[in-house]
Amino acid sequence: MKLIHPLKNKGVVTSTYKQRGNHFHTGIDLAAGVGAKIVAAASGIVVQSTSGCTAGYQRCNKGLGNYCVIDHQNGYYTAYFHFTNLYVKVGQKIQAGEQLGTEGNTGYSFGSHLHFELRIDLNLVQKEGSIDPYPYLFDGKELPDTQNNFLLEIVAVILVVGLLYVGYKRGYFSKVSGYLKKGS
Ligand SMILES: [Zn+2]
Repeated sequence: MKLIHPLKNKGVVTSTYKQRGNHFHTGIDLAAGVGAKIVAAASGIVVQSTSGCTAGYQRCNKGLGNYCVIDHQNGYYTAYFHFTNLYVKVGQKIQAGEQLGTEGNTGYSFGSHLHFELRIDLNLVQKEGSIDPYPYLFDGKELPDTQNNFLLEIVAVILVVGLLYVGYKRGYFSKVSGYLKKGS
């Protein structure tokens, strides 16, 4: 799954994923001007959508301003903060490139921009569970298309091996081969 640039007119990168003073900046800041179209970086389902903020009240929605989160159903989420207007609702299916809202300056923001996060969990703004989106937006790096159920697969293998072992210990297999021999 490729991510597309979440600003339709791209604009400029105003801050990257990095340590900033005493806190870690867990996303990338992109700016194309107030009202610029913000689009979904990939298809998925809206799992969070909160608005009600106007520019100037920095603590609105804990600083996120008007924001939304998309679950890409491959183990990854993208989050979009500081909208002026947000057009999507929780539960809504979204196609890659579909408009989510317009760029703004709501929440903890000093100048219109989009704060964009790529995550494996919904603990927004926490460094843990966040991923640098830059290589996915600008270097062609791709996310998996579907969720990797590696742990489930391991559990299944352990169960099958365990059942075979129990069967072997109880002699089921030698009985079966015994019947087969009698039959021949
Ligand atoms: Zn930011």
